[in-house]
Amino acid sequence: MKRMGIAVLSALVVAVVAFPQQALYDVVIHDGMIVDGTGNPWYRADIGIAGGRIQKIGTIPASAGRKAINASGKAVSPGFIDLHTHSDIPVLVDGTAQSAVRQGVTLDVIGESASVAPLEGVVLEEFKREQKRQYNFDVDWTTVSGYVQRLEKQGVSINIAISVAPQQIKRAVIGYQNRPARAAEIVRMKKLVEQAMLEGAVGLSSAFNGGGYDNPEEMFEMAAVAAQYGGYYATHVGSEGYQLTEEIKKAIQVAEVTHIPIHIFHLKIRGKNLWGKAGPALAMIEEARSRGLEITANQYPYTAMQHPWSRLFPDWAVDGPRERIIELLSDPATREKIKKDPLFHQYVDEHGGFEGIVASRITNPKNKQLEGKTIAEVAKMRGDKDP
Ligand SMILES: [Zn+2]
Repeated sequence: MKRMGIAVLSALVVAVVAFPQQALYDVVIHDGMIVDGTGNPWYRADIGIAGGRIQKIGTIPASAGRKAINASGKAVSPGFIDLHTHSDIPVLVDGTAQSAVRQGVTLDVIGESASVAPLEGVVLEEFKREQKRQYNFDVDWTTVSGYVQRLEKQGVSINIAISVAPQQIKRAVIGYQNRPARAAEIVRMKKLVEQAMLEGAVGLSSAFNGGGYDNPEEMFEMAAVAAQYGGYYATHVGSEGYQLTEEIKKAIQVAEVTHIPIHIFHLKIRGKNLWGKAGPALAMIEEARSRGLEITANQYPYTAMQHPWSRLFPDWAVDGPRERIIELLSDPATREKIKKDPLFHQYVDEHGGFEGIVASRITNPKNKQLEGKTIAEVAKMRGDKDP
């Protein structure tokens, strides 16, 4: 035994001497401050990577890696997951995804309020038209797997996880009709959720105006299917202002009924009058968690938000394809009706009021001079007393 041990040892010595240049690792990251993402405090160490995996964290000599990265004075951590990106089409327009990578993001979750699939009926037409208009981009898929194929064909620098929008699924089935879905339609909606999940979707992602969802049964039915396939339900609960507690209650109910994990997007309270009043909403979430429901939430670290103009108007005024909405909003009678709708005033207030809402991006060259101006300023420039 002893002799054999010596023989093995000497073979090893010979090997080391014979291949002094052979590196143990493809890459060694030296001397970084490691933040491992588990909540541990950071520590200083080297990381050896081979075959695309971390093989060692500790002290590694400089000669052990084919490539060395000096991370002295820098933090080294696992890639960040961005849960809320809207990069569905941008990653196809520019697969380098530099705006993600340069912030340390290695996984984008896509599909918020609208999703890359399923694309059917009026949804397909409008989706194609919008991507052409916004990005001069041609859509050539209708399903999750079709999108993935396109992504793989073009190449992308980061990982992508896809969620699908239940409201889009309903619209794909019933079109632009503001009514509850019928039994046969719900069956079809569930089928589309199932197909998306089978093709690799990670779950559902919804966005509501004030008050959250209108038809509980539809939400529960679709969420139950996603839950069955291990998915989660992420939601913009509503207008996050005057109706926040009602909206949180509805989100929690989805978890209660279907046992699906829920993630609440950018949990906050909008509307100056409501500042400081997020407490009850947080308490509801804590209470639901204490009952064993899986509910999480996030918030971004800045005080502004960005929305299309349509979010200022009640659902009845913006339910249709873009062209139709523009037509409706140009009609003086519709404008008068909007002004009389209390929801319009609620949404404006929740967005910061006429003094707080800024035209951040204007594509029409005719109106470019309004970029960066508040609605109140625009009204003044136009000599209009009524914003
Ligand atoms: Zn959002």
